[in-house]
Amino acid sequence: MRGIGMTEVALRSVSKLYGKQQAVQDISVDIRPGEFFVLVGPSGCGKSTTLRMIAGLEEISSGQLLIDGVVMNHVPPSKRRISMVFQNYALYPHMTVKENILFGLQVRRVQKEEQRKRLQHAAEMLGIANLLNRKPRELSGGQRQRVALGRAIVSQHPICLMDEPLSNLDAKLRGQMRSEIRQLQQSLGITMIYVTHDQVEAMTMGDRLMILRDGQLQQVGKPLEVYNQPANLFVAQFMGAPPMNTVNGVWRQQGSQTGIQLVEQEVDLFIPLAGTEGFTDGTPVVLGIRPESLLPATGEMRYTNHHQLCVTVRSVELLGSETIVGFMLGRECWKAKWNGQWPVKVGEVLDIVFAPEQIVLFDQQSGERLPVQSNDKEKIELWVKS
Ligand code: ADP
Repeated sequence: MRGIGMTEVALRSVSKLYGKQQAVQDISVDIRPGEFFVLVGPSGCGKSTTLRMIAGLEEISSGQLLIDGVVMNHVPPSKRRISMVFQNYALYPHMTVKENILFGLQVRRVQKEEQRKRLQHAAEMLGIANLLNRKPRELSGGQRQRVALGRAIVSQHPICLMDEPLSNLDAKLRGQMRSEIRQLQQSLGITMIYVTHDQVEAMTMGDRLMILRDGQLQQVGKPLEVYNQPANLFVAQFMGAPPMNTVNGVWRQQGSQTGIQLVEQEVDLFIPLAGTEGFTDGTPVVLGIRPESLLPATGEMRYTNHHQLCVTVRSVELLGSETIVGFMLGRECWKAKWNGQWPVKVGEVLDIVFAPEQIVLFDQQSGERLPVQSNDKEKIELWVKS
């Protein structure tokens, strides 16, 4: 017998049309048994629609949904062994916490003794045993969220779907619930499919993420894979805060040296970059670099193999644990993020350095990431000579 946590969910070329509007377009993905899988992307990109098709609340226009290898397209929601937690918690206001949690089991005519055991277990796990006789209006947002989780736990379904379950909570509680939900999923061993527009939630909670844009799949991968090797410019800028800095340029070969010439930016800057041989001279590219990869070049700190920019500070955000420094590179507003508290002032002229291997290149037309073999030792030496 397959136990909880052994359930996999697969989408095969799944699409959803609302009239003529394509809300979800040709999505294929295998969600592994016991995985915490996050659907992430900006509002309107098709996350909820995808989740609702998996739940059976929305018809699939074309393609197949498989649960444990069985096609589920026309199986009613109640037969899919899926529990769901929504943003608004969907609690019945006239029922107590206990009645709300047990409602699904009552409908399924689960034996009273079994109901009692499951309720006790869930209430203990969630720390709400003292709230069982209250009505939802007598609870805080966080407590209501726990009741909604309790309902999913007692169902003992092997798949749980969550749609923005934390967006009604304040920042501190959100942080706490993030780790609680993650722990809960692991201790129950269930397959979790979790929708959020918040890239921090996606990065911190997911075993893997699927990034959507306008109903189209952009990338599936582990959080750090997606962060370090974004498939395209959209993913690179969506994941990370502040977003990746970018600037347009063209790839040039100047004698034996290759690199990126920033031409359109009112700055005439050639950034030598090895490992890009094979590009055609004049290829339009977007150069990207993360804020944390732009380092301060102060007197005590010396870097070898780094490229240097001399910039005028336009903004300073002192966040206590880190400092975010804004400056213009041509017409682009760039940000550097440094650990700690830096006594930087607006108007100050600073040297900022970055390592060539931190540069990410994208095709200007398609936005796809371009390959750079930056770890080639010989080529890095070329950079040092520049
Ligand atoms: P997300 O959850 O990522 O915010 P949705 O899945 O809710 O996005 O929506 C995807 C697209 O489908 C949006 O353009 C939205 O306007 C559209 N859409 C969602 N539900 C319906 C509906 N019932 N009828 C028509 N269009 C819809």
